[in-house]
Amino acid sequence: MIFSYLKNKTVHKEEWTGSFDESVDAAVVGLGTAGAIALISAGRQGLSTIGIEQNSFMGGVGTGGAIHMYYYGTLGGIQMEIDEKVQVFNKVYSPSGVQGFHPDVKKKVLEEEALKNNSQIYYRSSVIGIILDENKVVGVQVITPEGIKTIQTKFVIDASGDAQACVLAGGDFTIGREIDGMPQPYSAPRGMHNGKVSSANFDAGYVNPTDADEISASICNAQTLHLKDKFVEDSKLLYVSPHLGLREGRFIVGEDTLNFEQMLLEEKPAEWTMQTYAHHDNHSRDWAFESDLAQEWVTICSFWSRMTMAYVKPGIVIPKGIDGLLVAGRCVSIDHDTAQTFRMQRDMQKLGEITGVMAGLSIKANCMAKDLPYNELSKELQTNGCKPLPEKEKKWGDWITDVSAIKEGLASTYPGIAIWSIKRKGSSFIPNLVEWLDEDGDDLFLKHVAFALTIVGDDSGKDILIGMVEENDQGLATSKEIRTHFPQKRVHGALFGLGVLHVKESVETIKKFLVNHLNDFQDVSQSVMALLKIAEKHEDVRESILDCILGEIDTQSFKFILEMQVSNGDQKSTCQDMKTFLIKHVKSKQKEWLSAVCV
Ligand SMILES: Cc1cc2nc3c(=O)[nH]c(=O)nc-3n(C[C@H](O)[C@H](O)[C@H](O)COP(=O)(O)OP(=O)(O)OC[C@H]3O[C@@H](n4cnc5c(N)ncnc54)[C@H](O)[C@@H]3O)c2cc1C
Repeated sequence: MIFSYLKNKTVHKEEWTGSFDESVDAAVVGLGTAGAIALISAGRQGLSTIGIEQNSFMGGVGTGGAIHMYYYGTLGGIQMEIDEKVQVFNKVYSPSGVQGFHPDVKKKVLEEEALKNNSQIYYRSSVIGIILDENKVVGVQVITPEGIKTIQTKFVIDASGDAQACVLAGGDFTIGREIDGMPQPYSAPRGMHNGKVSSANFDAGYVNPTDADEISASICNAQTLHLKDKFVEDSKLLYVSPHLGLREGRFIVGEDTLNFEQMLLEEKPAEWTMQTYAHHDNHSRDWAFESDLAQEWVTICSFWSRMTMAYVKPGIVIPKGIDGLLVAGRCVSIDHDTAQTFRMQRDMQKLGEITGVMAGLSIKANCMAKDLPYNELSKELQTNGCKPLPEKEKKWGDWITDVSAIKEGLASTYPGIAIWSIKRKGSSFIPNLVEWLDEDGDDLFLKHVAFALTIVGDDSGKDILIGMVEENDQGLATSKEIRTHFPQKRVHGALFGLGVLHVKESVETIKKFLVNHLNDFQDVSQSVMALLKIAEKHEDVRESILDCILGEIDTQSFKFILEMQVSNGDQKSTCQDMKTFLIKHVKSKQKEWLSAVCV
């Protein structure tokens, strides 16, 4: 057998001839939001289980992490029963009331439920190695308060939030957005009492959660921010979360993957285990650095707050090429964009339930999780509502198919639905749009037609986009009926469009815009990114673009400060200095283009 462990940030494997201290069917690593439910779910499948948790309580971010409230996600499954029990004790623990659910009650209820199935729990314990028999995980090595233990398993469920057991087993993973590999910002949560038990959390910076030095620095940064606050009688500090508020980290490479395109284009796979439900809750306010698809959704359509849902395939919890290992929680096989919507506690708890069921059924059928008969899995998940019955499935929003209704939508002040309906139709709709450009339409209608052309990849509306930049169009999408948080200015949609369509004729306009708007974060980021995208395609303008950008931003006086989001509480927003990142990014493009010329 092989012992697989981390040394100097890399996975090492060596022969193992030791003996196991204990043997169970399933070990759950991390008893947080997903892991606590995974332990209960596996126990209810009749498996012998051990839960391993580095804290001294269950529930993770949702209890000790001070985020004791649900935000979207889908109802159903074991969590309903847990929540009902928590509800009963909320008032006993906090007669004055509680925001969401009481974190200490949930810790207690989760632990009681797990212990009912004779699960063992190792608190203040951490996984330090994995035992493999070829590609099958057959055990975990754990450091506990009583010393190191090696536990034999039939399944390990990795619910550590960051795929730690999977990494130890040599599994592949991805992380962050394309431009800088960064997950979305982390937050600094704390428990408060302001007449009732509540919490506060505000974004505090970017961090690579796989780097111990960076994590330590961020914890210090977050703690200092709490110290700066003044706490008064009606806003008392109860505790500072032992967890840094990490929204995102590693994603495993799974047997199946759910990506943002599948989500937005609403694919329904033949085999699925649950639905997700939330909006594109991306805390990065530097939209220009996000993917093109995310920008089409957020910047062109102003859809930050539009609800999305997706069907989840069974294989997103199964690491590719590794047997005996399942993953639950925010580190399943998805991409950075998808993680903006698929991370809410209800959905994570369902992932925990699914992995417990999968481990149970696989052990009974004596098969690998990926070979589990789908009908059996589906039926088991439907029995208590983890997977909704057809009549309870969430439905997608209604997109427009009728051409005249699309035209009407484009003429309105809230064009996103019409624009995205065109995206779904694809390039076959271009002739209609080009025809509408030639009509004597109203200004706003023509601007929206240009946006629609942009997201189907056609530059026929480029003059209109250039016009929007020239006039610095501050217009926002508005609707009386539909909630629109963070609508994006039309000038930013136009800059994105000119960049993504590589419109060379717009270079001088964008340069002028950049030079005149150096003190606005979004104006700078959108125009720099547009210019770089154009330069990517047109070699002959690269030098003048780089001269212009670096001449403006690589100076002592230039400031590039991003104001971060405050989710709740009366904390002032923190700021992130992004100047070094921006200069580094532009210079890396310069280097890449220079070396291409040399080759
Ligand atoms: C700041 C913030 C605000 C949010 N707001 C909301 C909200 O309002 N509503 C909502 O529904 N969702 C919210 N979310 C999203 C949601 O809370 C998280 O996505 C979800 O809780 C993650 O669940 P998880 O099980 O993947 O991770 P966690 O809950 O973090 O659980 C991971 C567990 O693994 C343990 N662990 C890690 N490594 C090891 C190891 N090596 N050995 C043993 N144990 C280990 C950790 O201690 C932890 O208990 C928020 C998230 C954040 C960060």
